[in-house]
Amino acid sequence: MAANEIQHYPCSSCGADLLFEPKDGFLTCPYCGHKEAIAAGTEAVEEQSYEQHLQIRPEQMTTLAAGALEVQCQSCGAKSIFTPPEVAGRCDFCGVQIVAQPKSADPILTPSAVLPFAVTQQQATGELRNWLSTRWFAPNGLKYFAQPDAIQGVYLPFWTYDTSTTTSYEGHRGEYYYVTETYTERDAQGREVQRTRQVRHTRWYPASGTVIGSFDDVLIPATLSLSPDRLTSLEPWDLEALRSYDPAYLSGFKAQRYQVDLAGGFERAKEVIAPAIDASIRQDIGGDEQMIESASTNYSDVTFKHLLLPVYAGAYRYNGKPYQIMVNGRTGEIQGERPYSFWKIALLVLLILVFVAILLIAFSGR
Ligand SMILES: [Zn+2]
Ligand SMILES: [Zn+2]
Repeated sequence: MAANEIQHYPCSSCGADLLFEPKDGFLTCPYCGHKEAIAAGTEAVEEQSYEQHLQIRPEQMTTLAAGALEVQCQSCGAKSIFTPPEVAGRCDFCGVQIVAQPKSADPILTPSAVLPFAVTQQQATGELRNWLSTRWFAPNGLKYFAQPDAIQGVYLPFWTYDTSTTTSYEGHRGEYYYVTETYTERDAQGREVQRTRQVRHTRWYPASGTVIGSFDDVLIPATLSLSPDRLTSLEPWDLEALRSYDPAYLSGFKAQRYQVDLAGGFERAKEVIAPAIDASIRQDIGGDEQMIESASTNYSDVTFKHLLLPVYAGAYRYNGKPYQIMVNGRTGEIQGERPYSFWKIALLVLLILVFVAILLIAFSGR
């Protein structure tokens, strides 16, 4: 297939483009309903060597699908990848209309695996309508999200890392001991009396050693378009349902290009596992209190996977600020920030004041 040819999945009965159907995981014809199975990747999703991919070679790179296009949002910088007949439309992350012309997508590090959508756009929009109907004081403009196309299915990029760690540390172990002190105070009759009390002290001993650790599938977002907290709140992901990557899963969906590269993601992973290493050092030191003066960690057997995880995302601009809504494409769970309408709250406060004033007048008139 030539590089500029678009990857199509033509329907064998009517020739239209087959799209991935989250309901059953088949490629499905939107016109005649014909279904085709996506060839099950028989090989297990493989961990890849981190070291071997830091110096990226062309054969490790791929465009997500033949003929894929890429467009960058002029407002927030998010890069979306899609195949025609999908269009750029509005930015899913900040809500502005994308005006840039799409260009051929640059290759990216080949994804190891994809978690296919299991929730349809219709279901996600339905969940979102329910959610909106329970938001008091949301500005009326938020009803934008009730429109059928307000949220779009987009695969978000993630990295996962496995690593073994060996950490040498130096510090101190603190052990408590108690000293009996005497002191004087006045009793109820005002007489001075001698009393004793136990006072806790800490004796510090030097401590040093080595701890080892092993970490599996540390999940790190590779997108900067959504806040890390928001992404964390979309968890858990049923990663046991991952499939080997096949461009067919993208048919009818967009994907986002990773904005955090492989090495940058690993630096973030180190931060995520640091508290666990810290805890094992403290356990190794023992005693009642611990001080860690220095610790140096060696990371070995580092492997990674590049994953695409499914969300429906949309953004709504209110007072010039974007508000993002995300729906987990596996569970339908909604995460979103919501603006409060100043006018709706002001109106309620006013109503309460009027009500109180009426009560006051009624009672003072008696
Ligand atoms: Zn068809
Ligand atoms: Zn944007």
